[in-house]
Amino acid sequence: MRTVISADELRTGIASLARRLEAHYQGQPVTIVGLLNGSLLILGDLVRELRIPVEYDTLRVSAYRGEATTAGAVLVEVGHVPPVRGRHLLLLDDILDTGATLHAVTELARGWGALSVRTAVLLWKRDRTRAGFLPDEYIREIPDVFVVGYGLDYNRQYRQLPQIVEFDPSIPAARQGLPS
Ligand code: 5GP
Ligand code: MG
Repeated sequence: MRTVISADELRTGIASLARRLEAHYQGQPVTIVGLLNGSLLILGDLVRELRIPVEYDTLRVSAYRGEATTAGAVLVEVGHVPPVRGRHLLLLDDILDTGATLHAVTELARGWGALSVRTAVLLWKRDRTRAGFLPDEYIREIPDVFVVGYGLDYNRQYRQLPQIVEFDPSIPAARQGLPS
């Protein structure tokens, strides 16, 4: 199993993010909205680390990607509008790749009446991100490799791993030290 980020590194990374968020929001009302299912574990760990009053909510997003010619164009369907009027909104996701998903959700969220809309991700594949789709906060930059664990899946598997590992779908899982 090739570990990209250990459970210990995740803990310290989340603690640093929590300190940056505390400094940024300065006691103002914040709602963290995690995109399902990938951000579930980081959402739970992050809110327990924060020493400011915070509300949290989740959002299930169905993103339909456009053709190659419109790469990055994503049509987002949101089943629930979180009550964020008069509060600061922080959208949280597991990973930012092209940035299209979080960019589209951010555009939509601008209509929800929040005092501000910002984004935070656990992982950022900076080299793949389209111009203008950058995250406001991130914990770790990673190269363009496929990873699973700590919320990230391959065909709904491996989200439960306490660390983030590289995964090659062309090699049997057992040979990569993963449960098959
Ligand atoms: P974006 O819209 O930023 O291109 O895509 C973000 C989504 O792509 C993530 O929420 C995640 O579902 C998926 N994704 C991108 N890279 C990876 C990866 O390395 N591993 C896994 N499991 N999902 C990824
Ligand atoms: Mg996802």
